Amino acid sequence: MSEIIKTRAIVLRKLDYGDTSKIAQFYTEDFGKISAIIKGGRTPKSKIGLIVDTFNLLQIIIYRKETRDVQIISDAELLQYYSNIKEDFERLKYASAVIELLLNLTIENDHNQRLFNGTERILELLNTPDKNPKFYFAKYFLFFIKEIGYEFPVNRCSLCKKELINGMQVYYNYDNGILCSECSKDRLIHFEFTKELFKLLKCLNTKINNIQYTEDDLNKIIQLLEKFIKYHIQEFKGLKSLELS
Ligand SMILES: [Zn+2]
Repeated sequence: MSEIIKTRAIVLRKLDYGDTSKIAQFYTEDFGKISAIIKGGRTPKSKIGLIVDTFNLLQIIIYRKETRDVQIISDAELLQYYSNIKEDFERLKYASAVIELLLNLTIENDHNQRLFNGTERILELLNTPDKNPKFYFAKYFLFFIKEIGYEFPVNRCSLCKKELINGMQVYYNYDNGILCSECSKDRLIHFEFTKELFKLLKCLNTKINNIQYTEDDLNKIIQLLEKFIKYHIQEFKGLKSLELS
């Protein structure tokens, strides 16, 4: 049995299918990641085919059958087009990295309202001219990792659970996570945080946005999070969108 449902959806990617159709992947508000076909989506008259484009936020109506891998779209309405993202290389780069995370690291049909809301918010921020895309992407990346179940704890030493406060010297090891200086003594250290860098990491994990940082420190945090995911998820090969720069 199929049901007709309406949900908000972010377009992750689209592919040509057959002679006239398109298949697209969406991150939806009610069902997480799904694939759906737009019949006749490549004909010039197809209104749906035109608005199903990467990054767009849509309201879609689908005939949904739980047993089917690819759902069928019957109608769609454009809610947000994010024109600044498409016109600015830096913004496009980080928005593409957001899409890559959702495509590669989320499971189909796994509903997550917080992840949908966070993704809608990051696209809005990346689309806002005076917001630094790299800063907001680093925040989103930390949030995303937590939402897919691999939290990167920054408040306590992973071994002795001592609270880690700003100004402390901390270290990082892939097997254990963040370590206080006491616990780091007899262990292999993969990464040493400067005090400024650790302060930035802690701030990125809060709702505070008016903090001091350098672009270089943001790069280091993004690279560390990428390595963290690679270490835990073997299939993940890194974010291709960020290799271009
Ligand atoms: Zn410790």
